Amino acid sequence: MLGKGRDKKVLKNKTKEGKEEKEENKEGKESKDLKDKKIERQKLDIPKFAVITPEFSSKKALCSFCGRESIASSGTWICEHCECVNEPSTVVFGSNPSLKEIQSKLDTGDIDEFSQALASYEAFAKSAQDNRFAYVVGFLYMRLSDFYLSNLNYNRKDFMYENTLLRRNATKAESKAKLFLFKASKPGTTPESIFTSFMALLKLGRLRDASSMLAELNALNNKESMPLADYASMLFSIENGAYADAMQSINKLIKENLFIENVAYYQAFILYKVKRYRESVSILEKLLKVGFSNKNLSDLILLISKK
Ligand SMILES: [Zn+2]
Repeated sequence: MLGKGRDKKVLKNKTKEGKEEKEENKEGKESKDLKDKKIERQKLDIPKFAVITPEFSSKKALCSFCGRESIASSGTWICEHCECVNEPSTVVFGSNPSLKEIQSKLDTGDIDEFSQALASYEAFAKSAQDNRFAYVVGFLYMRLSDFYLSNLNYNRKDFMYENTLLRRNATKAESKAKLFLFKASKPGTTPESIFTSFMALLKLGRLRDASSMLAELNALNNKESMPLADYASMLFSIENGAYADAMQSINKLIKENLFIENVAYYQAFILYKVKRYRESVSILEKLLKVGFSNKNLSDLILLISKK
């Protein structure tokens, strides 16, 4: 789900002059200090918020972009895994064999077969008009990179050689991820396309550009764009550590019954961040009961279990 904003400088326009780079770095440091202060302030505000837990749906559908099964509402929904917007009318999945392959390889967890399937999906995404395909390829390569890194092992006998290979594979997957996220960050004119561009920029750690995309989404101001703008605004606030702001978007989305399972996950994430562990766990348990099963949820459960 949320990118960790890693390696923010790598994809910056290479034609930029050195001077501009330096200014950007300085600004980056100042905004980091400001960000830390803001996080502290917002943490103090959070305990006042009442937590609303809605009834979750257990209806499932296949995501047309990553091919995985996700909780889905009857209207437009956001995939619990890749966070692509799925319209009720999209049936891309059925006509795309490489996507079917991806899904089955992801489920069996065989990483070699998964990266092969991903390569064939990549070829398809390259020529696809819809930027959600490029975004998903980027998202999946990030997952692959994380997988390689999580397998680094310093206790094995031949760890030096094995680890070098793993690191090399991780770096390769990461550059592929960035390439495709960069491609996905070029938006079209539809709300879904602008939202996808926002997501790609967020994953690339390009917060300033992501914020312009959010403004564009807000400016559309129609019934398709508004729910996506609220969801994007929630993610942007979380990425900035502005939890009180994020809670406002969350409560709004819950009241309007929009994307509530994903939104509830983020609510649980914030509650964990502000050390309201019991409330966080109670939401996570409810999500598990309806079969919500994305990776972030299992990561969060692991984090809370260590508290
Ligand atoms: Zn998906």
